[in-house]
Amino acid sequence: MMIRPDSDGLTDFIPAAAIEELIRRPPATADEIRPILARSMALQRLGLEEMAALLSVTDPAVLEPMFQAARVLKKTVYGNRIVLFAPLYVGNKCVNTCLYCGFRAANGDVVRRTLTEDELRAEVLALINKGHKRLVVDFGEHPDYGVDVLARTVEIIYSVKSAHGEIRRVNLNCIPLDVEGYRRMKAAGIGTYQIFQETYHRPTYAVMHPRGPKSDFLWRLYGQDRAMEGGCDDVGIGALFGLYDWRFEALGMLAHTIHLEENYHVGPHTFSFPRIKDASNRALDPKYAVSDAEFKRLIAILRLSVPYVGMILTAREPAALRRELIDFGCSQIDAGTRIGIGAYAGADEEQDLSREQFRIGDCRKLDEVVGELVDMGEIPSWCTACYRKGRTGEHFMEFAIPGFIKRLCTPNALLTLKEYEVDYASPEVRAKSEALIADELAKMPDGVQKAQLVERLAAIEMGDRDLLF
Ligand code: SF4
Ligand code: SF4
Repeated sequence: MMIRPDSDGLTDFIPAAAIEELIRRPPATADEIRPILARSMALQRLGLEEMAALLSVTDPAVLEPMFQAARVLKKTVYGNRIVLFAPLYVGNKCVNTCLYCGFRAANGDVVRRTLTEDELRAEVLALINKGHKRLVVDFGEHPDYGVDVLARTVEIIYSVKSAHGEIRRVNLNCIPLDVEGYRRMKAAGIGTYQIFQETYHRPTYAVMHPRGPKSDFLWRLYGQDRAMEGGCDDVGIGALFGLYDWRFEALGMLAHTIHLEENYHVGPHTFSFPRIKDASNRALDPKYAVSDAEFKRLIAILRLSVPYVGMILTAREPAALRRELIDFGCSQIDAGTRIGIGAYAGADEEQDLSREQFRIGDCRKLDEVVGELVDMGEIPSWCTACYRKGRTGEHFMEFAIPGFIKRLCTPNALLTLKEYEVDYASPEVRAKSEALIADELAKMPDGVQKAQLVERLAAIEMGDRDLLF
């Protein structure tokens, strides 16, 4: 059964007219920007006017301090860890007609497929055997993918084990549910529930989503509210950049953040900011395409505006650009990504847009990405400690907002890197990983936590797993 949208009585909390005015403001000067950066560095979430000032800047001399502040801020809150995950596409049937998506109902060229339970187990096994611990599960919107199917999918994923490996966190990137649906998902043990608004600009939303349940803007906009009410208190928000003016979307994401903070005392757990890529049989106006230079500004400004938020940079972007962009405030990336249905257990082949939602830019294997992150001085992390220790929602914000979370992120990242090193790494990556762990330990002050960490790293060498702070 599909959830029927019901947006009666909901009011739009995105101040569209004010945002339109804000994105037309004159460029801010260095003097205007300085106190705003100081507020970000003091870990304050910015307001719409402040974000608009940052968005107005194009002068390289004013931009550079913003980029530098974003770099420092990410390290202040989360340290030098980058969390790794893989997307898992389970089914691509869809009743919606999103103009930018290869899976839209009207696209007769796409091959429709849903993993059987055995195929799902095979996919999960393949992911585990590559070293993954965290998944984001994707479905189209279709009567075949009701709440029971979503819950069963999560249950199967958690049930698959292989030697020392298992999936420890399943996030869902799915349709907006009703409150009861979210209760079921919480009971199934999901991590973050992500819903991308795609565009916060209603006239564009109406054009892009002409038919199907997704055409109800407000039902989608309140998806995270219902998630909070249903007990899913780690929610992700996002926009698809390239549908409308990128500055409007950034301010829309901030307005959504403020709404969640004001109503639930919990902001979004993550921001997603994918850019439109090629998809099967797609014809879109390139007018709002976001250039690489604008994308860099966007990422830095999102980081500066909401210092506590996890920022997800996906493999839609090419490897070289990802390498550069990670530094501007990103805290999570996918790696070893395949988006074809059944593609992880199948042969490693070229992308086929008749089977996939869009074109990905970074097809490298997980081990290669891990090796590159280590070379960059970043700690690859598969940490899932917070939600498994009950640090979700408001409790998580108590750690993330004041910037305390780094004290947990770094040791947990090292423990999971050690697991990867022992269980999955190539000899070359293993050697690099050992050196990085030694360097990080040398940087840590002596004390109880360091002693525990050293003990646990040794225990992993001896065969223990899933040790966490
Ligand atoms: Fe369906 Fe999602 Fe694609 Fe829209 S974006 S057509 S809802 S799969
Ligand atoms: Fe994420 Fe918490 Fe682990 Fe840090 S300690 S990486 S915030 S789960």
